[in-house]
Amino acid sequence: MAQDEMSPREWLYLTTPIYYVNDIPHIGHAYTTIACDVVARTSRMTGTPVFFLTGTDEHGQKVWQSAQKLNLPAKIYVDRIMPRFRDLWKFLHISNDDFIRTTEERHILGVQEALNQLWKKGDIYEGPYEGWYCMFDERFWTQKDVSDGLCPDCKRPVEQVLETNYFFKMSQYQDWLVSWYREHPDAIRPESRYNEIMGFLEKPLEDLCISRPVSRMPWGIPIPFAKDYVTYVWFDALLNYITVPLSMPGTAENLKRLWPATHVIGKDILTTHAVYWPTILHALGLEPARLIFAHGWWTVNGEKMSKSRGNAVDPVLYAERFGSDTLRYFLMREGQFGQDSDFSDSSLIQRVNADLANDLGNLLSRVVAMASRSAEDGMFRIPEGYVPSPELLQAAREILPEVPRLTLRFEFHKALGTLWTFISLLNRYVDSKAPWVLAKDPDRKHELDCVLSDLLEGIRVTAVYLAPFMPQTAIRIIESLKSSESLTGLSYQTDGAWGRLPKTLALEPVLPLFEKRNPDGSVQKEPRPARVGSPERRGEIPAPSPSGEPIPAEPLKTGESQPLTRPAKPEIDLEAFQGIELTPATVLAAEPVPKSKKLLKLTVDIGREKRTVVAGIAGSYTPGELIGKTILVLANLKPAKLMGVESQGMVLAAQTETGVSLITFDRDLKPGSEIR
Ligand SMILES: [Zn+2]
Repeated sequence: MAQDEMSPREWLYLTTPIYYVNDIPHIGHAYTTIACDVVARTSRMTGTPVFFLTGTDEHGQKVWQSAQKLNLPAKIYVDRIMPRFRDLWKFLHISNDDFIRTTEERHILGVQEALNQLWKKGDIYEGPYEGWYCMFDERFWTQKDVSDGLCPDCKRPVEQVLETNYFFKMSQYQDWLVSWYREHPDAIRPESRYNEIMGFLEKPLEDLCISRPVSRMPWGIPIPFAKDYVTYVWFDALLNYITVPLSMPGTAENLKRLWPATHVIGKDILTTHAVYWPTILHALGLEPARLIFAHGWWTVNGEKMSKSRGNAVDPVLYAERFGSDTLRYFLMREGQFGQDSDFSDSSLIQRVNADLANDLGNLLSRVVAMASRSAEDGMFRIPEGYVPSPELLQAAREILPEVPRLTLRFEFHKALGTLWTFISLLNRYVDSKAPWVLAKDPDRKHELDCVLSDLLEGIRVTAVYLAPFMPQTAIRIIESLKSSESLTGLSYQTDGAWGRLPKTLALEPVLPLFEKRNPDGSVQKEPRPARVGSPERRGEIPAPSPSGEPIPAEPLKTGESQPLTRPAKPEIDLEAFQGIELTPATVLAAEPVPKSKKLLKLTVDIGREKRTVVAGIAGSYTPGELIGKTILVLANLKPAKLMGVESQGMVLAAQTETGVSLITFDRDLKPGSEIR
């Protein structure tokens, strides 16, 4: 059952895997946890009660070995590593309700109780365990792992070992698990992962060895009915999702109220979570998770991220450098949650400059600056008889509710794309209403204040819908609008509705929300202040900045930032369309426009003549790859100067998830051929 179909009073029990403290956090840990946080915050805002759990997995062979290498008792070792995770979540503003460590007594007691229960039930038995053992790594391998007689990890010879261990009768639950998944085809997402597990379950399941002799590896939860054994780390860890609710006051009720969990993991641990875990739960009389969502991996500049390559992305470093909200935004916006995604500084910086500094930050600072200019006695007042723009009101009602709907389906990139559609609309509203023109005419003050009220309210609702993704940014926007909401108890139904802006606002110009970055990530000098009274975002001559330097204008035209999903436009007749001269044009030359990161100057052949057109496609195309391409140009657009270059037409391109895609032709044709 999808989250958005849950009845509002039903709990969302949201869990991340508990992270293994043998390693320090990397971007993958942050990705899982941020995604859960976004879902948790969104759910709370819809009125769903949420319990969001994360934590650390602290037992097992590898932790034991790492501690031994440092000559530390294992508990001291895990006490040192655990805070790296716990503190990172604080730093990234993760709103988890609890943090479980598997070395805590509440967990240990819960695991022992579960073991006792299964032992009494006959689901655990004692038996011989035979396998290939590496003395150096102190671990077993299967026959196919050691086909050459060597340990796959350290390449030392392995030896056959026979010892007695305890086994969980996982095999007897295989048929049940297969039929449960057949009845719950939505229980694992994306669908490819569901198919992977169904494929895995076509082969016979073996029983699961759940013990380790203390003589070989003492770092684990003692098995209550076998004093010389500790619990296998996977079995121990997979129980944390129930030991936490069971250890709360009012035990049985808590588990009943919260269960089943909605669980988010990386795809690498799917088998243990989608096969071992549900069989253990079933044996204990509990349902499997409501949903397991297995997300993809992050590559780094197109390469697999690994310790040996030394290219692991440190989330702390990026959050410190760019801000935790920016990292949250990037991870949620850049990739598709079930698929692999690529992390690169250049794509992060592009998002910061275009989406955050330009689309959102600049919108806020210029609207607030214009409204504070229009204020009287320091107060901006929503004018008497103000009626919201029907266009904006309709867009807010149609577009914004899609944001939480998509978020709760784990379609984070689409949710943010949709929110940015609305932000683009606000930016276009500024352009079309040109408040800097209205401000020059005292007779049009009422009209000006109505436009500014629309924009302030539009920004306020944007902040509400942005809050689950960028909680600190949302607070800053809400504070700068002096609107009374705090983030605790924010709700879509009330705060997200149009018309909650205070009637009078003591506005002051705000500092830019985001700093633009150079390609090396450094902050661009002279952060662009909010401009008042200048033709914003157009290609016209830029207004001087306070330092006297011309401020580069950033044209929004030529294929940039067009929304992904848009409200339908009014119908036009054929005549209106025939007034538009679209023409195939061959690119003869292409070069960057000086001082612009987005613009390319193209020389194109439109059949009857050559034209210079300026296009905002530098983020998606290099000059070299354009030459010789036949593209589509709007030829009868009034010429406009962009960064000092006259553009005699507009290149048509479609907005994609990551940039723009030029419109081209699938047959060879002559430039200037008629389009009809
Ligand atoms: Zn080895």
